[in-house]
Amino acid sequence: MSSTHSLWASTASRPTYPPLTTDGLEVDVAVVGGGITGVTLAMLLKLAGQRVALLEARRLGSGTTQGTTAHLTSVLDTPYRVLEERFGVRGARLTAESSQRAIDQVAALAERFRLTCEFERVPGYLFTEHDEDYDALKEEAAAASRAGLRAELAHVPLPIVVRAGVRFDGQAQFHPLEFLSGLAERIPGNGSYVFESSRVLTVDEGEPCRVHLENGSSVIARRVVLATHAPLHRLLFQTKVAQYRSYVVSGPVAQAPRGLYWDTAEPYHYIRAANIAGEKHLLVGGE
Ligand SMILES: Cc1cc2nc3c(=O)[nH]c(=O)nc-3n(C[C@H](O)[C@H](O)[C@H](O)COP(=O)(O)OP(=O)(O)OC[C@H]3O[C@@H](n4cnc5c(N)ncnc54)[C@H](O)[C@@H]3O)c2cc1C
Repeated sequence: MSSTHSLWASTASRPTYPPLTTDGLEVDVAVVGGGITGVTLAMLLKLAGQRVALLEARRLGSGTTQGTTAHLTSVLDTPYRVLEERFGVRGARLTAESSQRAIDQVAALAERFRLTCEFERVPGYLFTEHDEDYDALKEEAAAASRAGLRAELAHVPLPIVVRAGVRFDGQAQFHPLEFLSGLAERIPGNGSYVFESSRVLTVDEGEPCRVHLENGSSVIARRVVLATHAPLHRLLFQTKVAQYRSYVVSGPVAQAPRGLYWDTAEPYHYIRAANIAGEKHLLVGGE
């Protein structure tokens, strides 16, 4: 038994899907990996009229997605003042716009399918407990505003001593596995499939491609998307992927602040609340 568990996995209603057992299943696109990336992509492809096979090695959402704290935010780990230095105001604007559109995409899918995934628009707060960080936060608010975000120095509604904070409007939170499950159950049908316990071993590139599974079955597809988080069989790339472990603790609380919170420490701490089956939970992570 694992000594840690995911709040999302233990509270989501998740149907199971069979493994692929046939050889040569034909589809337009094979999507390998059933985390939030693969499931969202498979859904969007199906909506665009493609026949899709979603192939997940274990259970949908059992990778990094079940470990996320699910802050839906256009504030990335790289500060906007650094993005602006490296890529100019235009590059920073593109980053902000694409992240904001990703949040809108989640909102649109949740609304379209009436997913009970606790999607909620909330503000995000970057805060510091140290006076010497004030100038950096002020600069960050200005750079984020130039990138098109609604960001300003603001009071941070946390019951701790906060020296300064930036409020970013238009952020959001949700229950990632309820979102993922709600999408996944709408994928099968009309030539599209979802398979769990279906680990992909290799992909033969070509016209079409052939995707080989560990159990000997295979999929024939015009296109293959690897949505496996760390890429399969890209050894050089894999050597550049650093591994980090981060812990999140959560528990029921009588009341919790509304919003997403993260500080300026390294590694940074992050806080959010979640409503689960009518009960408020607080999630705190970052060590
Ligand atoms: C502690 C923590 C907190 C985080 N907080 C946030 C946050 O607040 N906001 C945010 O935006 N992001 C956050 N993240 C990051 C976020 O969780 C990930 O970016 C996201 O979940 C990645 O999703 P994914 O679908 O790309 O990958 P994954 O969820 O890892 O999905 C990949 C899937 O591919 C499957 N797979 C792998 N190999 C194969 C194979 N050979 N054949 C078939 N299937 C295969 C895996 O089983 C897995 O299910 C956090 C991450 C962690 C760890």
